[in-house]
Amino acid sequence: MNPLPSRRHFLKASTLAAASLPFIPGLSLAAEPKRKLGFALCGLGNLSTNQIAPALQKTEYCKLAGIITGTPEKAKRWQAKYDLPDQCVYNYGTMAKLADNPDIDVVYVVTPNGLHADHTIAAAKAGKHVLCEKPMEVSQEKCQQMIDACKAAGKQLAIGYRLHFEPNHLECIRLVREKVLGSLKSVEAGFGFHIGDPNQWRLKKELSGGGPMMDVGIYALQAMRYLSGEEPVSVSATATTTDTVKFRGIEESLTWQMTFPGGIQTSGSTTYGLGGVNRFTANTTHGWLTLDPAYGYHGISGMRSDGKAIQLADMDQFAAEMDDFAQCILNNRPTRVPGEEGLRDMKIITAIYESVRTGKVVNLA
Ligand code: NAD
Repeated sequence: MNPLPSRRHFLKASTLAAASLPFIPGLSLAAEPKRKLGFALCGLGNLSTNQIAPALQKTEYCKLAGIITGTPEKAKRWQAKYDLPDQCVYNYGTMAKLADNPDIDVVYVVTPNGLHADHTIAAAKAGKHVLCEKPMEVSQEKCQQMIDACKAAGKQLAIGYRLHFEPNHLECIRLVREKVLGSLKSVEAGFGFHIGDPNQWRLKKELSGGGPMMDVGIYALQAMRYLSGEEPVSVSATATTTDTVKFRGIEESLTWQMTFPGGIQTSGSTTYGLGGVNRFTANTTHGWLTLDPAYGYHGISGMRSDGKAIQLADMDQFAAEMDDFAQCILNNRPTRVPGEEGLRDMKIITAIYESVRTGKVVNLA
């Protein structure tokens, strides 16, 4: 049991105390503090350390309330840095004990892709909402198990699609929907980088589920889907690998094409072989709009064919994503990035890999 009094009990007690005060003219009670949901980070690697934990400090509705890690030295460092007591520290084998900690509302799963289902299901069974990093998992079956586990627990599941909260992406969606530059005809999108360390989990298929398509190509795929507002009906893809020692069982680079029901065509590329590919262009009947760079944590900007810039204020995408999820939970409304959205991407990525394997167009309808 967590010996600390829970925030819920404290808030309930202070609300009751305030309600019992007599009315005194001129005395205004301070507004009830915003309820902050407790987030436990599961997996304390690069993303948790450099983006998510700092972003949590900037949120309005969230706070760091726990950590789940397999490395005791890391736990010590995080405890010192974020002032976390021992009872907020878990390892992957003790996640069931999260059930006893009412100060943790949400588990944010930030482990390698092929462990997302294990950690999501453990968190849901402990009665916690789950925010899970992209890609949701490495197969449709695993994604479905995650959705089922959260449903069975009556908890919300969101996927860490941070760009759904990024103003420049939202502006591009608005421009396309309102046909400001005409009707959307095609999208070209690509995201890739040069991968270093040959021993990292991203290059191990059982943990990654695949190569750059799973890791960063998914951003280009997402852009195609949210710009068009449609689901693809068919896909074809080709993969190439020049370094067969480093890239064993996963692609080094991949290109794919998709057709959408209204006739929109899209063309995507992703790679671990070279840096600097980070953009999309949406072509319309009367022009185009582009973001370049499109998918980074900061500095996203672009242009429109009518000469106007697309350059809305930079913000912390992770803070926005977590605050939105917290508000969904607090107000009992659905997230715009539910598990079903992650499953839809996984269905398309599975078809992309099938097309690579068979050399054929794969129908998705
Ligand atoms: P990372 O390698 O830096 O961290 C992974 C963490 O998982 C480490 O702390 C590691 O110790 C832990 N872990 C637990 N079991 C492990 C195992 N069996 N093998 C290897 N590591 C294990 O990776 P990361 O870059 O932080 O990525 C974590 C997740 O976040 C991935 O799903 C990745 O796709 C996603 N991600 C998302 C974004 C984004 O912009 N939303 C950016 C980077 C990564």
